[in-house]
Amino acid sequence: MTIPMHCLERTVARVASVRRSKPWARRGLAWIHLAALLALLASAAEAEQPNFVVIFADDLGYGDLGAYGSTTIRTPNLDRMAAEGMRFTDFYAAAPFCSPSRASLLTGRYPVRAGVPYVLFPTELTGLPPAEITIAEILSDEGYATAAIGKWHLGWPKPFRAQRHGFDFFYGLPYSNDMLKWEPDTVLRPQHAFWKLPLLDNDEIVEAPVNQHTLTRRYTERAVRFIKENRNRPFFLYFPHTFPHNPQYASEDFEGRSPHGLYADTVEEMDWSVGEVLRALQGLGLDERTLVVFTSDNGPTRGGNRWGPRSSGGSAGGLRGNKGTTFEGGMREPGIFRWPAKIAPDTETSEPASILDLLPTLAELAGAVVPDDRVMDGRSIADLLLGKAETLPQEAFFYYFGAQLQAIRLGHWKLFLRLTEPPEQSASLWYLQNPELFERHHRMREEPELYDLDADRGETRNLASELPDIVERLDGIARRFDERMQRDKRRPVYLDGQ
Ligand code: MG
Repeated sequence: MTIPMHCLERTVARVASVRRSKPWARRGLAWIHLAALLALLASAAEAEQPNFVVIFADDLGYGDLGAYGSTTIRTPNLDRMAAEGMRFTDFYAAAPFCSPSRASLLTGRYPVRAGVPYVLFPTELTGLPPAEITIAEILSDEGYATAAIGKWHLGWPKPFRAQRHGFDFFYGLPYSNDMLKWEPDTVLRPQHAFWKLPLLDNDEIVEAPVNQHTLTRRYTERAVRFIKENRNRPFFLYFPHTFPHNPQYASEDFEGRSPHGLYADTVEEMDWSVGEVLRALQGLGLDERTLVVFTSDNGPTRGGNRWGPRSSGGSAGGLRGNKGTTFEGGMREPGIFRWPAKIAPDTETSEPASILDLLPTLAELAGAVVPDDRVMDGRSIADLLLGKAETLPQEAFFYYFGAQLQAIRLGHWKLFLRLTEPPEQSASLWYLQNPELFERHHRMREEPELYDLDADRGETRNLASELPDIVERLDGIARRFDERMQRDKRRPVYLDGQ
């Protein structure tokens, strides 16, 4: 709601003039007009649309922040963010790797439903289908300025880029920073793919190959500039970092600074970046009307891959498994929400929530409508954030690996399903071209596994044989859900020729 300034000026002038010449009764009436207008103004400010900043780490472990128990990596800014806001102990990515996780964050839908169940490779002329509706599109319609700064990885061909999904502009990498160079003798189409990993400013190549040492710093400068340029209107900044994904690089100020290695250096530089974003918001007086969210797309790698010293892995903080698994270590992530005017400081919740919930939550806070022509897997957690509710309605969370449903969580129970058939291979072009990868990634499970995540968050004690009733109940919920999911799934969209 907005009140034209001329309206206020006219009322003030009336009060002034009545004070000079009119009797008390009429003067009182004018004052009432002014008071009513001021009250309206106050409620307009109250209803002002908040800004949103979503900072998304890449391959960060559950235990890699001070606020989540790390004693080796220094993250004072993220720790402060947690101390000033709400910290989730059970916050999930909706996939154990990059592209599908991003698709879920932006659409509020499980990756299978959103048409990006697998990691996208530069060989593929596909991406987030144009028919999907993103947070950026919803907020754009409400008058928000929108920016995607960092790693996109939802399709590099033009029809799939961020600017075609509701973002006013994009600055960053089209895909992962280990997808450095693609030779013409592979399955790719060299006439289409970038041969050297480029830094893009919208569709323009700024630098190729990109100097990865300065990526975090350059992303941060661009993000702060975007905030400054849009300080007088609502904005949505989607800030998916490139690191600590392998290979790791940091700027001169950070590389070699931590006694705990390059992985720690990159996380500490990302923490610095978070501090710069918070400082910009505070400096511009936007702190009180900006929700800042921090989480990661999936768990840490084990390190030690082909990048040598530039590929150390993070800590899953005692959780089982790593990136690429549906154990907790692959999908449970730090989840920090900070909004000084609205979220009580130093709050912790063990309510399970996930990146699927961001779209409905941000839409509600912005006064926007969630699309009702499609299944929305996430739900708004606004009441929990704002202290209007202490719990969320209990809903099951589903752990998909690609197109395969592997596990379900309901309350504190987690069941790994008995799996005797592989998922449909054709859901990923990459798998069709690399069948051995498909075999490796999709293991069968002869017997179900049931874990009590409250008592055993490391998933070490299989209770399936002791609690067959719980196994049966969760198995039924999961299989019914997946039947609907497989019917409802969106086929990946390919450009001509694939
Ligand atoms: Mg990742």
